[in-house]
Amino acid sequence: MDNPTEINSVYWDEETKSWQYKVVPVEEYHGFTECQHCRRPMSHNIKSEGEFKVAYVKCACARE
Ligand SMILES: [Zn+2]
Repeated sequence: MDNPTEINSVYWDEETKSWQYKVVPVEEYHGFTECQHCRRPMSHNIKSEGEFKVAYVKCACARE
């Protein structure tokens, strides 16, 4: 699998009380954590804008 160059990460927005998406650029990719239920990625460990971050994504069983 090729490393992604950007990730559409999801986060909970307290102001709107809803899930919001944000595309974050990936400088270095360091793997992901998979969901124990559907085995799809739940979060990606990346370096973005000079910082190590965890970018959360929605796995296959988190769809509304
Ligand atoms: Zn899942």
